[in-house]
Amino acid sequence: MSSEIQQNYQREYRHKNREKIFLSKKLYRERNKERLKIKKHKDYLANKIRLRFQHREYYFAHKKEAQEYFKRYQKNHKQKLIQLRREWVAKNRKYVSEWQRRYRQLNVEAIAKYMEVYQQLHKVELAEKRRMYWKHHKHLKRVHHHTRILRLKEAGALTVETIQKVYEDNIKQYGTLTCYLCESPIVFGEDNLEHRTPLSRNGTNVYENLKVSCSLCNIRKRNKTESEYRLWLSKKGKNYAA
Ligand SMILES: [Zn+2]
Repeated sequence: MSSEIQQNYQREYRHKNREKIFLSKKLYRERNKERLKIKKHKDYLANKIRLRFQHREYYFAHKKEAQEYFKRYQKNHKQKLIQLRREWVAKNRKYVSEWQRRYRQLNVEAIAKYMEVYQQLHKVELAEKRRMYWKHHKHLKRVHHHTRILRLKEAGALTVETIQKVYEDNIKQYGTLTCYLCESPIVFGEDNLEHRTPLSRNGTNVYENLKVSCSLCNIRKRNKTESEYRLWLSKKGKNYAA
């Protein structure tokens, strides 16, 4: 009985002194801001898994509202979120680059296809971008040039005789100039001297490393080796083969 009286009294007290209680709580929070922050974080860490599970459950139960809320939040806090993201990336650079490396490794094909489409869609802008890059990186031009020369030196000289032999042997083998990758006849002017192992991957200019390909295969192959390209193509399925 006495506890009931006590409860009633407390309720009445709270009701009468609402403002006062509110203010004192606010004051307390302000005075102990740092301490409370640490405590909150500690509590969060202690209940991390449970909270995550709770959040996820809530999310699935209120998916639509949650998505709308996030969208609204992102729109209203755009700059803040960009800043936060930037800070986080700067702090976790090692983790980010490792993650990116793994992502690139696991999605080689998807990225290549995306790049192919992207480059076709943005031909003009990309050319302009390249032009601007060289305009602002004049000092790097020599370095790039030098690297290229070094690579070419290592690859050995590409002689007219070798090229002639590669083309002649191609015609001997197929009857007409034919792409060694997709094995379709090459239209005049669409032929490319191809490195089975690209120079950028330490391939050389010896006869054995040289073949003739069509432009499409040449573009798609990029800096893949021949076997990498064939594997890539076989995974693409029939409708992707030229
Ligand atoms: Zn081809």
